[in-house]
Amino acid sequence: MAKLHVKAAVIGAGMSGLVAARELRREGHQVVVFERSSDIGGTWLYDPSVESDPLGLDPGRDVVHSSMYRSLRLNLPRQLMGFSDYPFPKKGSGDSRNFQGHEEVLQFLRSFAEDFKLVELIRFRHEVVRVEQDVEGRRDWWAVEWRTRGGEEAAGVDVFEAVVVCNGKHTQPRIAEFPGRSTWSGEQLHSHNYRVPEPYKDKIVLIIGRGTSAGDIAKDILPHAREVHQASRETDNQVMEIRKLAGFFQHPMIACAEDDGKLVFQDGSSIYADVIIHCTGYSFHYPFLKTKGLLSVHNNRVGPLYKHVFPASLAPRLSFIGIPYLTYPTPLSELQSKWVAKVLSGELVLPSEEEMMSSVQEHYQRIEKLGWPKHHTHRLEIGKFTYEKWLVDQLGLPALGQWIEKMALIGLELLKFLQSSDENWRDTWDGEKWMQEEGFGKQIP
Ligand code: FAD
Repeated sequence: MAKLHVKAAVIGAGMSGLVAARELRREGHQVVVFERSSDIGGTWLYDPSVESDPLGLDPGRDVVHSSMYRSLRLNLPRQLMGFSDYPFPKKGSGDSRNFQGHEEVLQFLRSFAEDFKLVELIRFRHEVVRVEQDVEGRRDWWAVEWRTRGGEEAAGVDVFEAVVVCNGKHTQPRIAEFPGRSTWSGEQLHSHNYRVPEPYKDKIVLIIGRGTSAGDIAKDILPHAREVHQASRETDNQVMEIRKLAGFFQHPMIACAEDDGKLVFQDGSSIYADVIIHCTGYSFHYPFLKTKGLLSVHNNRVGPLYKHVFPASLAPRLSFIGIPYLTYPTPLSELQSKWVAKVLSGELVLPSEEEMMSSVQEHYQRIEKLGWPKHHTHRLEIGKFTYEKWLVDQLGLPALGQWIEKMALIGLELLKFLQSSDENWRDTWDGEKWMQEEGFGKQIP
């Protein structure tokens, strides 16, 4: 059967949008990438400016896309940051640390876009404001309405046969709620609006959260602040690695905040603080999608979404890249993009809508069995790579399976190392050396 070549819109020119554009074009589709900002890179495009509402609650605020802080270093080694046929730069080029600064990723994505001639596909400063199916009664046509940002003002609507959403998942803050939060007298921000530690000089800062950003930001601020405290629902967490440092204290979650600046914790202890930084994650956010209820986001569940990519009743002409987390983002987006490109061309066929719906229901039941709350619907089981291997099987590309297997081994070794709670794990763990010792040689990717 002849391949179908569609006119596809990709929303976003971050890592996912770039690899989606490459894979779609490789499969023969015609691609237009809409990018709200004036450059590629998405999250990796460090922006020193912050939003007018530091908690990100005001829907009318002017959005700053990136959540990068100035000091950010990768939390994955370079071997896990590349594409299957386009590795992340080896040690010795640019930032020679094992876990480089964020600038290296931007440089990598720029080279990727140039080498695969993707820049010519991108309409910069074009914000997508509406995506809607059914143009002139045709269910396979999609209206993509856009307007320009900055420079000369323009707006328009273009029609596409497929839309691939790659708008990222780290821009819309989720904050912690507790009694007294909204009237608390101190300063509050979300980590999305944290950039540099200097404004916290001599302050008492409370960080809420237990993820990588919470740990990084605590360490960033500690040399400047009077004290850094951390509150979280669980104490068994990644911030353990800074527990022993002077001036750093851990607490259970906040029970209430009082008007005079006092914060009372669930164990009854309390502190007076100047600042609260919510390192409490992000929400999936698609303000431009108009699907008449066929797809929705509830408590961070985007659904119903078959295998985190295709909305069951709008597949295959609407798809999402990069939704799952607790995985390696670059390989994941590449595998999903290859799948979408081949489904759109007809080379791969999706199950029926009913079958997709029952797969989604099975997934929800599994989440429940695992005891995970609804907002973890798109979390993958760390270290298992079941989902990535499923994608590889769909694609029928065993070489990619070997790539994923090797990455899984590196990831397991890294995890062991992280659990040893070495304070300076990013400088101590030498993935390249370990791989050589284990006989990986130059095989990754
Ligand atoms: P983004 O990079 O967010 O790109 C989305 C793009 O869509 C942006 O360019 C945006 O401008 C555009 N866009 C959004 N809305 C619209 C619209 N309406 N119209 C047009 N364009 C739009 N990953 C790693 O692999 N290793 C790490 O060490 C790592 N560290 C991280 C640290 C932090 C603090 C954060 C926030 C993330 C980190 N990540 C890391 C994950 C990182 O987000 C992914 O690696 C990857 O960059 C995601 O790419 P994306 O293209 O899916 O999204």
